[in-house]
Amino acid sequence: MKTSSSNKEDYLKAIYENNGIDNFVSNKTLSLHLGVSPASVTEMVEKLKNDGLLDYKPYTGAKLTTEGLYKTIKIIRNHRIIETFLYDKLGYSLHDLHHLSEELEHVKDAVFFDRLYRYLGSPESCPHGGIIPTEENYREKALTPLSNYKVGDSPEIGRVMDDASVLNYLASIHLNVGDTIHILEVDTFNEVTLFTINDDDKPYHLSHKQAQFIFSTL
Ligand SMILES: [Zn+2]
Repeated sequence: MKTSSSNKEDYLKAIYENNGIDNFVSNKTLSLHLGVSPASVTEMVEKLKNDGLLDYKPYTGAKLTTEGLYKTIKIIRNHRIIETFLYDKLGYSLHDLHHLSEELEHVKDAVFFDRLYRYLGSPESCPHGGIIPTEENYREKALTPLSNYKVGDSPEIGRVMDDASVLNYLASIHLNVGDTIHILEVDTFNEVTLFTINDDDKPYHLSHKQAQFIFSTL
């Protein structure tokens, strides 16, 4: 079972990853990303607001306070340093990184993370394309969800959220960070987008839900 503090951390991460630095992130978005009911979201964001970590406006959503931002930078930084280590040096696959990184990011020794970061060659991003943030440089480079694109657009995949089902699906169609997709059709009734990858003619589909977990730099 999850402890309430790790649960709070999941909320902070989800708000950060949906650009809750500059904008308010809606309860609906958090509910989708965390896989919890809107009522649970309301309850938890109220708690985090009382902790001084979030600004929260009902019907608008949640945004990180300065204190919340610095706390989240630390969590995300440690998580992504561990991910990069597991992926680059130990050969773990993208969708196997999550659980182990969640465990290892709680190591208390800050020097350990600094040393590991230098050992890895001071990487700028994690294997999912997320920035490895510092207190000076913490904005994700890929911030536009694929759900914002139209027929004829060709966004480049810049970042994928650490969600097991989305990562498994992307692995099954061989869609990776750095690939360009060409959008052929957006079917709003069935909530599916059809696209091709790079120079390949074979069409693939993505649900509108999945498209909210994948971001482009444009
Ligand atoms: Zn990552």
